This record gives sequence, structure tokens and C-alpha cells, in this order.
Amino acid sequence: MTQWVHTDARFVSWEATADVHAIFTTRQGGVSASPFDTLNLSFNVMDLPTDVTQNRYRVMEMMGRNIFQLVMAEQVHQNKVGWASDIDASKGALTSADALSGLDGLLTRHSDIVLGMGFADCVPIFLSVPSHNIVGLLHAGWRGTVKGVQLAAVEQLKEQGIDPREIEIGIGPSIGPCCYEVDGKVANQFFQVMGNKAPLTPHGEGHYFLDLWEANRRQLVLAGVPETHIDISHLCTACHEDQFFSYRRDQGKCGRMGGFICMNR
Ligand SMILES: [Zn+2]
Repeated sequence: MTQWVHTDARFVSWEATADVHAIFTTRQGGVSASPFDTLNLSFNVMDLPTDVTQNRYRVMEMMGRNIFQLVMAEQVHQNKVGWASDIDASKGALTSADALSGLDGLLTRHSDIVLGMGFADCVPIFLSVPSHNIVGLLHAGWRGTVKGVQLAAVEQLKEQGIDPREIEIGIGPSIGPCCYEVDGKVANQFFQVMGNKAPLTPHGEGHYFLDLWEANRRQLVLAGVPETHIDISHLCTACHEDQFFSYRRDQGKCGRMGGFICMNR
């Protein structure tokens, strides 16, 4: 059984198997100034690039890894999942210009690669297939969730002959059902895809609270991932201002946390 632990102010970690190293950073322990204080990991939010670079170096050091092993995805709120290999090392690490384009999901079999993505409310989905030495990371905001980025990842793995029952999932800190209000337009897309199983709670006329953790969990279970293999951190980014940036709470003016996963060598 996997679990989420928070023993260091700078990150929360997903304890999967001994072979996997997966962390989700908090906003603490970096060098960026307000409103990106302090551990902002995104080059795309008007923060000083030199500060972001220094923050990324710090995080890779925390993981005991080298920044040139990092591979980042462009993240376009779609559902494309791709494989990162040796030749992708350092792509997106020191500039977002060469991040793997058009992808919201990354998978790798390479133990010298660290997969990374930025988050500030969207759901980070960490993935491990211990029997095949594969790790993965998905970016699932409401768009990615309803477009099925989680199903796309399972499909990619099935194409490699992997049984979904072998997949372990960690759903990390993101905006929770306590804080994520959506309008009828967003809600309808979830009703269309998930029917009456859509995890929406009515909240006033034409508004709902959306549970992105449950939506992703349910889709993954439908795709064949055992319920006992899905571990949700239940940490809401909007509720914990001291720990996390939140795009919704901060009205877009904030930094990004990072999700990172690699295999232990
Ligand atoms: Zn909340």
C-alpha cells in the first residue's frame, strides 16, 4: 500500500515502492519574491528566470538528482501522453521553450530521467508500474480530467502489454471539492462523460462543487486500475495558503509547485 507523507516543509512525497522517488513541492524553501514566494518552479508566470532556475536546482538537489536529468512537458490541458527517453534529458529543464510539446502526460522506463511538471490547483497524478520499471506523471486540470488524460496513460501502458492491475497511482495536492466551484458549462461536460457518476455537488443556481480527485479516481478504476492501488493525498491547494500556491485562490497571480518522479537507481 502506497501513502503520502509530509516530513519536510519543502515537499510532500508519495511513498510508492522503494524503487520510486516521487515528490510534490510546496511553496517553501525557494528564492522567489512575492507573489511567487518562494519556491516557484515555472518560467511562465512573470517571475525572474534566474530565481526559477535557482529554485529548480534546489529541487533537483533535494532529490539527489542533476538538473540535466529533468524532462518537463509543455502542459496544454489536453490528453496526450508521451514517452521520455535518454535523448530527452534536460528538455524543459532550464527553459520552457524546449519542453516536450503538446503533452500533459509523461512516462519513462529510464532510471536516469526525472519527469517534472508544474501545478497550482490542477491535479498531479503520479504513476508507477513496479513490475516493468516504469514511472509517469500526468497533469489533470478539469479539462485534462474530462478529456481523459488518465485513460490515455492507461492505454499507452496497455499498448506495451501492461495489465492495468499492475499500475499504482498517487493523486497529489490540488484544489479540493471543498473549494472548487464550477459553472454549469463545466459541469455539463462531466455529466456527458461520467453521467450521474460525475462527482458534482450542487451549490446554488447553476453552480457546483467539482471533486477532481474522485473524477480521476473513478475513471482510473473504470480503466482497470484496482481501487486499492489509488492513493489520494486529500491536500487542497486552495485551503493551505502557507503551503501551496492556488491559481483560483490567488486569482492567477501565483507561482507553480512541481511534481517530480523518477526511479531510484
Ligand atoms: Zn479546499
